Amino acid sequence: MKVKIEKWLGVARWAWDVPDPQCVICLLPFESPCPTCKNPGDDCAPIESECSHHFHLHCISHWTSEGNEKCPCCRAVFRIKVISSEQQFRSARA
Ligand SMILES: [Zn+2]
Ligand SMILES: [Zn+2]
Ligand SMILES: [Zn+2]
Repeated sequence: MKVKIEKWLGVARWAWDVPDPQCVICLLPFESPCPTCKNPGDDCAPIESECSHHFHLHCISHWTSEGNEKCPCCRAVFRIKVISSEQQFRSARA
C-alpha cells in the first residue's frame, strides 16, 4: 500500500486517531515518534493489536523480535489488527 505523504508532512500539528494516549512500550505519546525515530509520521505509525492496544510500529516490532508473543499491555497473544494508515489519517482529520 502506498500513501501519499508529501502533502501533509509540513503540517505542524496533527494527531493519530488512537484511543490510547501513549505507547506502553516507550511511554511516549503517539504524537511523538518512537525513541528510534526523529520525526513523527507514517514511517512510525501507531499500530493496533487485535486486543485493541496501540504501539508504535517500531516499538512492537522490536518487542516481538525479542521473542515476545504477548501483548505488553494485556498479555493476550499479540496480533496486528490491520488498519491502513490512510484510513487512520482520514479519521484523524474528521
Ligand atoms: Zn513506542
Ligand atoms: Zn519509530
Ligand atoms: Zn493487549
